Amino acid sequence: EPALVLEGIEKAYNPGRRNEVRVLNGAAARIEAGEVVGLLAPSGAGKSTLLHIAGLLETADAGEIRIAGQAASGGGDRLRTRLRRDGIGFIYQFHHLLPEFSARENVALPQMAAGQGAAAARARADDLLGRVGLQDRLDHRPGELSGGEQQRVAFCRALANAPKLLLADEPTGNLDPDTSDRVFAAMLEVVRETGLGALIATHNHELAQRMDRVLRLDHGRLVAA
Ligand code: ADP
Ligand code: ADP
Repeated sequence: EPALVLEGIEKAYNPGRRNEVRVLNGAAARIEAGEVVGLLAPSGAGKSTLLHIAGLLETADAGEIRIAGQAASGGGDRLRTRLRRDGIGFIYQFHHLLPEFSARENVALPQMAAGQGAAAARARADDLLGRVGLQDRLDHRPGELSGGEQQRVAFCRALANAPKLLLADEPTGNLDPDTSDRVFAAMLEVVRETGLGALIATHNHELAQRMDRVLRLDHGRLVAA
């Protein structure tokens, strides 16, 4: 089953008012398991709105959303919360790691919140962090890590609960070009090994070229870039 299906997604802010903004107008997409899809959109085109709706953080006015085969539309908050926790990993431009906790704890905590035991959660954290080259940074706190290392920890946290879908908003956007390149390559390798579907928003055309295909937002619809 596809990692993500969006059909006929509509979203307007301030509907019916003088300051109405129609952001999404029949947006549709299908991301297969194992597929890495880029999202190129100029600022203001609705990229964040689309990612928030796909991530079940915001509701659409109309349309269908399926995460790994499960319909989210029409379900209540509890269904959406469960699908989000078990099915979706998020990574943002800024890492939002917990500053008082180590890299390992930052990756283990979401697993424990989902019911995993502490020892298994730590073991999975160590494995994920090792796969992005952070085996010597397990006990470092975010403030003791470089920017690229922090984003790699955030990436591992996004994968902590083995999601079927990864949603990323400019995941290397605050890094210098060299670091961005290296961190992005590490992320792509793990995504491809893991076989999850990914939708990755970026302004960077070079990064976009490394993805399987690229979509852009055009008047509220998703089209091939
Ligand atoms: P992007 O991430 O592509 O920059 P957004 O999805 O944040 O775009 O926003 C798309 C459009 O919707 C913008 O014109 C923005 O001003 C408008 N918008 C976003 N959020 C709101 C909101 N809460 N209320 C009103 N307008 C909004
Ligand atoms: P950058 O080269 O990206 O500016 P930093 O100078 O911040 O990186 O850090 C260089 C290396 O030293 C990083 O790998 C980081 O993990 C480590 N490091 C930075 N600060 C600390 C600290 N307070 N304690 C332990 N290790 C640290």
